[in-house]
Amino acid sequence: MTAGVIRPMMGRDSQFFWDGTAIGELRIQQCNACDALRFPPGPTCVECGRFDRGHVVAAGSGTVFSYVVHRYPPVPGKELPIVIALVDLDEGVRMVGEVVDVADDEIEIGMRLRVDYRRIDDELTLPIWRRA
Ligand code: ZN
Repeated sequence: MTAGVIRPMMGRDSQFFWDGTAIGELRIQQCNACDALRFPPGPTCVECGRFDRGHVVAAGSGTVFSYVVHRYPPVPGKELPIVIALVDLDEGVRMVGEVVDVADDEIEIGMRLRVDYRRIDDELTLPIWRRA
């Protein structure tokens, strides 16, 4: 365990995602049968119900759909406030992530972001977002 990090759920369905962030790839699950993209990953395709899973590598850019500024309660190892955004990837899926280098009074809906990676330890590299 690394102090100061809220560790995400890791499991069979999402391992490919974390394998990707570890090498600087933002991976989106894709159905091999119908090409539907989905995030968060899951065992079956919501479009066609098949189990044939693959993934694509996202370009790594997106737009702020909404955000929260976390001021309280304290998060161990973190200096508050932190900005957490729902990011609409250009590929059409939405994911949540911390936005760094953007002040809490500067973040706005529609802002363009690009992904970056924060290596926590051998098992975990988190995607983070910066102003594009
Ligand atoms: Zn499908």
